Amino acid sequence: MWLLPALLALAASRPLARADSHWCYEIQARVFNNCLVPDQWGEDCQKDRQSPINIVTSKAKADQNLGPFSFSGYDKKKKWTVQNSGHSVMVLLGGEATIAGGGLASRYRAKQLHLHWSEVLDAGSEHSLDGDRFAMEMHIVHEKEEGTSRNEKEAQYSEDEIAVLAFLVEAGSKNEGFQPLVEALSDVPRPEMNTTMKKSISLSDLLPEEDKLGRYFRYLGSLTTPGCEEEVVWTVFEETIQLQKEQILAFSEKLYYDNRQTLKMTDNIRPLQRRGQRQVFKSQAPGQLLPLPLPALLAPTLTCLVAGFLR
Ligand SMILES: [Zn+2]
Repeated sequence: MWLLPALLALAASRPLARADSHWCYEIQARVFNNCLVPDQWGEDCQKDRQSPINIVTSKAKADQNLGPFSFSGYDKKKKWTVQNSGHSVMVLLGGEATIAGGGLASRYRAKQLHLHWSEVLDAGSEHSLDGDRFAMEMHIVHEKEEGTSRNEKEAQYSEDEIAVLAFLVEAGSKNEGFQPLVEALSDVPRPEMNTTMKKSISLSDLLPEEDKLGRYFRYLGSLTTPGCEEEVVWTVFEETIQLQKEQILAFSEKLYYDNRQTLKMTDNIRPLQRRGQRQVFKSQAPGQLLPLPLPALLAPTLTCLVAGFLR
């Protein structure tokens, strides 16, 4: 009988939509008691076209329109500004680099990139593939180039106003391309701190080789942080980025959620959302699918071999 009052008190200490409460991840709520955890996030976050999702690869529908991307300015080397945003580490990209193709309806400008991670190497990505999660996930956030709808209050945002390229990160060999970003982490331990990389790198330095980016999944969803606007066309690449284990763990070790450096920034991951009625599509990269089942291809080959042998 004592349980009910206790539960009510607990509920009262976590009001559902207090305007002055800031949003947080579950791990932060264990230390800071006055923040809104993912189940309590407001705005669009409780709608039904949210991200991230688990991608069931066998149910993804092949779509011939999902061709290769064309990357522009991705090879430009620069000492980028790196910022502790309070929920991630963010690289400010300034909108110079753009993407087109990839089945997108427009050209998009790269505004920023950030990552999600955990100290547990199979629990750091937001999206999962067939239930498998990865060590980290990198999001390169692009905004649609054309269109003035963002400035017009009346205008409805379109469902593809933002294009996010998502890369899953696995533990592997040391990634020299990432090293300037990894080294910058020590300079931005607390929220709102900024630094610049000591060495110039390009966006391409952070990505797998371009010819491996033909295979990807596509669906329509939302931002994974409040206000969770449902205006994101998602691309989740099948090819992963490899980082050395020490490089991955540096994110959890160098960065903090708070100014007093009491809570290490880790598990900055929104839980999986329901896919609902949404279809996930997949690209059809050359050579990805055999046009005929294997026996159908093997039979003529064997016939030729046997014919050659008998001759
Ligand atoms: Zn993100």
